Amino acid sequence: MQESDLVCAVDLGGTNLRTANIDRDGRIHERVRTPTPGSKPAADVVSAITAAVRECEARASKRGAAVLAVSVVVPGSVQVETGAVFNAPNIPSLQGYELAPALETALGRPVLLENDANAAALGEMWRGAARGHQTILCLTLGTGVGGGILLDGKLWRGADGTAGEIGHTSVDPFGGVKCKCCNRGCLEVYASATAIVRMTREALAQHPGSPLHSINAAELTSEKIFRAAIECDELALEVFRKMGVYLGVAMANFVNILNPEMIVIGGGVSAAWEVFAQHARAEVIKRAFPVPAQRCKIVRAECRDDAGLLGAAWLAWEVH
Ligand SMILES: [Zn+2]
Repeated sequence: MQESDLVCAVDLGGTNLRTANIDRDGRIHERVRTPTPGSKPAADVVSAITAAVRECEARASKRGAAVLAVSVVVPGSVQVETGAVFNAPNIPSLQGYELAPALETALGRPVLLENDANAAALGEMWRGAARGHQTILCLTLGTGVGGGILLDGKLWRGADGTAGEIGHTSVDPFGGVKCKCCNRGCLEVYASATAIVRMTREALAQHPGSPLHSINAAELTSEKIFRAAIECDELALEVFRKMGVYLGVAMANFVNILNPEMIVIGGGVSAAWEVFAQHARAEVIKRAFPVPAQRCKIVRAECRDDAGLLGAAWLAWEVH
C-alpha cells in the first residue's frame, strides 16, 4: 500500500459519465467526463466506462500512482449476487443487464457496483454534511428522487438490494399522479425537479399575474421557478411550500421508524433550500414524535455532484 494509491470511481448518470481517481482521504485527483450513451445498447455503456477507467489509469500511472480498484455507481437498483442492474428507467438498456460481470471481463479486474443514491449517502457521511454521523438518510432531489439509508455507518441494502427508495414511498393515496415506477402518489411526483415544473404548470391558471406566464411552457425549469420564488412570486412560493410539505410528510415517517441523527438533502433541487426547507422541517416537527424529531438535523448536502463518486470510492476503500 502506497500513499499515492488510488481507486477509480465511476458515476454513470442519465446524461454524463463521470470518472475520477480518488485517494484514501477522499481527495479527488484525475477526472474524466464523457456523455452517457444512454439510448445505446448495454455493450456501448460497457465500452464507454472501460475507456474512461483506462484513461484514469493511464493518467495515474504517468505520475507513478496506481489504481487499486474500480467502483461504479448506477441510476438503478443493483442485485448484489449477480451484479445485474434493474429499475433503471434513465438507461433502459441496462434493465436486467449483468453490468458488473461485463465490466470485470472488459477491465480484467473485480468491479464494485452500487446504486447512485446509496453511494451519495456514503459520500456525504465520508466527506460531506454527515461527517461524524452514523445513522442518516440521504435524499437526492433531481429529475427523480433518490434515497439512501445508513444505519450505524453501514449502508442498508435490504434483502434484495432495493432498500432506500425513499422517493417511491407513497405520500398521497388520493393524488392520482402517476410515477414512472407505476405507483401513484410517490414522493418523487411531488418533490423532484420534474414535479416542481408540473405543479407550477398545473397552478398557472390560478395565478394570472405570475411572471412565470412569460416563460415558454417547454422552457420552464425548476431553477426558473426557484428564481421566481426568490422574487416573491406567490405561485412559485406555493409550489415550493407544497413540495416541502410532501417532503416533510415522508421524512416524518422515517424519523419515527429509524430515529436518524440526520437527514441530508442534495441534488439540483436542493439549491432551492431557502424556499422549501422550513416547510419540510415544520412538517417533521408537527408529525413525528418529539424526541426523534428534535434530534434529527435536516441539512443540505455538501458534496454536490461528487457525492456518488465519493461514495463509490468509500466502498472500494472499505475492502482495500
Ligand atoms: Zn414511484
